[in-house]
Amino acid sequence: MQKDVIVVGGGVIGSAIALRLAQAGLKVAVIERGRTGCEASRAAAGMLSPQVDAQSRTPFFDLCLRSRAMWRDFAAELKDATDIDTEYRDEGTLAVFIEGERESDWVSWQIDAGLRLEKLTVDEARRLEPAVTKLASRAVFVPGDHQVENRRLMDALDVAMRRAGVEVIEGEEVTALVAERGRVTGVVCRNRRLRAGTVVVAAGCWSSRLLSPLGLNIEITPARGQMIAVRGNAAINHVLHSSQCYIVPRRDGRILIGATVEYVGFEKAVTVGGVNQLLAAAIELVPAFERFEIIESWSGLRPDTPDHLPIIGQSGVDNLLLATGHFRNGILLAPATAELIAGNITSGRIPDEMKHFGVERFERTVSDL
Ligand code: FAD
Repeated sequence: MQKDVIVVGGGVIGSAIALRLAQAGLKVAVIERGRTGCEASRAAAGMLSPQVDAQSRTPFFDLCLRSRAMWRDFAAELKDATDIDTEYRDEGTLAVFIEGERESDWVSWQIDAGLRLEKLTVDEARRLEPAVTKLASRAVFVPGDHQVENRRLMDALDVAMRRAGVEVIEGEEVTALVAERGRVTGVVCRNRRLRAGTVVVAAGCWSSRLLSPLGLNIEITPARGQMIAVRGNAAINHVLHSSQCYIVPRRDGRILIGATVEYVGFEKAVTVGGVNQLLAAAIELVPAFERFEIIESWSGLRPDTPDHLPIIGQSGVDNLLLATGHFRNGILLAPATAELIAGNITSGRIPDEMKHFGVERFERTVSDL
């Protein structure tokens, strides 16, 4: 098999990149050791919410805003291509401050910067979301922060990339990248060599394992997030945030409560402590949850980097690109990441925006290949 591009990892990042590359006319394969989206990308909450809690204006924040703006069209494109509705919802997000809590700094700088935020009194917040606790002291409505149903998103991406001509190889693990005379020429998978002009590593928190044999010592660390889903008879109409948790209502009646951030290696257990923490925070925000039924619990491993920012772009080794480390924002950032990586591969140019997310920012050693 000779491909123009092999993408390692069929999460939201690898799948979106593969889709864009195939649409550009390249011969592309995605190699996924499980099923498309079986890790962090299906475990996520699907919030497209760069503004809540963003502490300052940075290139990362700008990339998040740009990607958020791409979402409406991306969701529509996937619906057209697959007939799968990813349930993109644009009703905004409500951040609630509980009595005694200091309003955090993200609100004031964003208002000063002219970003869309509406400060609400408790009464106004409760008119918008009657189930919110009476102990709230203030709230901020973020009209531009939205959500998508990320399980349906992964179903749609799977269908869309196959229809665009991507060869999706599931149930096979890439065990090594092949390097010859200083450049990557393919991957090893099931003891056979698959050749490609370019390899993109989008293997989430498993990316480091593939890179370190090439001397690319980049720490991508798993950050476990536990989630639960509940169901009951008080309606929630918006994504809600408090300082301790978030709540995401889905169209099918499930309400997601998330999420812990824990550095416990590759351990994916759902723990009593994690569930306890989520339930306590959720009940504080929406007291009616006490009567709700718990219908599901799960966890996923976010790919984190030393500075918590994604790595998008050239690796320093010829023909090897990286698209990983999206930590808490991989769903949000998928459209922009795919555009950047596909643009780089098809044009050979490195967009200015991508330069902020290069691997050069970390100390690394590239040994003789
Ligand atoms: P993954 O989805 O983990 O995909 C990597 C894939 O690579 C996996 O499927 C894996 O099986 C495969 N793989 C690994 N190694 C190999 C190999 N050697 N060979 C073949 N395949 C391999 N983001 C948001 O934007 N909004 C949210 O609301 C949000 N909420 C979250 C809530 C939780 C609980 C969690 C865990 C994450 C959340 N995130 C959210 C973050 C988001 O899920 C991630 O940033 C995103 O899914 C990362 O996508 P990825 O494709 O890089 O990684």
